[in-house]
Amino acid sequence: MQTKACSKCGEIKDVSLFHKDKRGMSGVRGNCKDCFSSAQKVRNATPEGKAYVKTNNAKRYEGNPMWNKHRRANSSAIRLGLPGRITEQQVTDLFAEHGYCCYYCNLQSTDPSIITLDHYYPMATGGKNTIQNCVPACAKCNESKKDRDPEEFIKNKAKKDLTT
Ligand SMILES: [Zn+2]
Ligand SMILES: [Zn+2]
Repeated sequence: MQTKACSKCGEIKDVSLFHKDKRGMSGVRGNCKDCFSSAQKVRNATPEGKAYVKTNNAKRYEGNPMWNKHRRANSSAIRLGLPGRITEQQVTDLFAEHGYCCYYCNLQSTDPSIITLDHYYPMATGGKNTIQNCVPACAKCNESKKDRDPEEFIKNKAKKDLTT
């Protein structure tokens, strides 16, 4: 076990309790994760900090428009008290796998406001927050599916498509 003294609180902690940082001599940050996150919280609460977070998010969004989709899924899961977390990479891979096509109607788009991340079995009705339970869905399908049973939704949709 490798330990390190935190430059902020002075506590000697296991290195796993420090964020990795390639620039640091020991490969980790000088201050521990606890100190880092409390410093970040203080910083983010100031008007400058808030503005910084906002522009930073906007920049990230530009680079990878899909990046916030896993965050949305994870925060709903947290709200519902469900385990299972999705990563940004998983969402990116999933969308690429499906060729940026809606799972239900095949609409293709790389516009993140059009193609959304859908929990096949809705979390509200016991679906898991895992990438295996996720499909890309256009906003229209996602909106009309909501918390409905996926098989039921697909059946109804097929019926509607035949009559229209
Ligand atoms: Zn510390
Ligand atoms: Zn669709």
